[in-house]
Amino acid sequence: MEKQIYTKKNKSKSPAIFLDRDGTINEEIGYLHKIEDWEWCTGAIDSLIKLSETNYKIIIITNQSGIARGYYSNYDVYKLHSWFYNEIKIRSGRIDAIYFCPHHSQFGELRNCNCRKPKPGMIFEAQKDMNLNLTKSWLIGDKVSDVQAGQKAGLRTILISAAKKQESSHNSYYADYSAINLKSAIDSILTLK
Ligand SMILES: [Mg+2]
Ligand SMILES: [Zn+2]
Repeated sequence: MEKQIYTKKNKSKSPAIFLDRDGTINEEIGYLHKIEDWEWCTGAIDSLIKLSETNYKIIIITNQSGIARGYYSNYDVYKLHSWFYNEIKIRSGRIDAIYFCPHHSQFGELRNCNCRKPKPGMIFEAQKDMNLNLTKSWLIGDKVSDVQAGQKAGLRTILISAAKKQESSHNSYYADYSAINLKSAIDSILTLK
């Protein structure tokens, strides 16, 4: 897996909020890799700024099989990540780390990695890198595979799903909570705390 870590390892264990990327903080367009195609989800910037004022580590974990498929490179992803990291930083917010899985089960050299969600590899790696307290941590994502990765690591989970999907969704009960967007998910965590 690939990682960008922007924070120091605390001596005491920190709680964290793990965020999926595509469909959670930015609009899902499929194999996004260009800065000019990036579009923040409504309220996502403000939510990240608000979260920056808490003691939660903010960690993004994202599957990027477009690399295994040959659509774009690790470098493209690093460049995009550095860009949006900075977009938050210049607004006095923070992102503590970003992990991505460049693999896929049917493409590329490594086909049975331990990092592609629903596997929890990126979460456990972050736990080691940043001394995290996973039982006090959360995962927010828009797919069941995000929720599954979170559950395997013992996190509490929130599934983001659009209102129309939520009514009939068989998925909403699967996570601990469901929310219509990132803002609502983060507001719930901060209220529950
Ligand atoms: Mg997603
Ligand atoms: Zn992987």
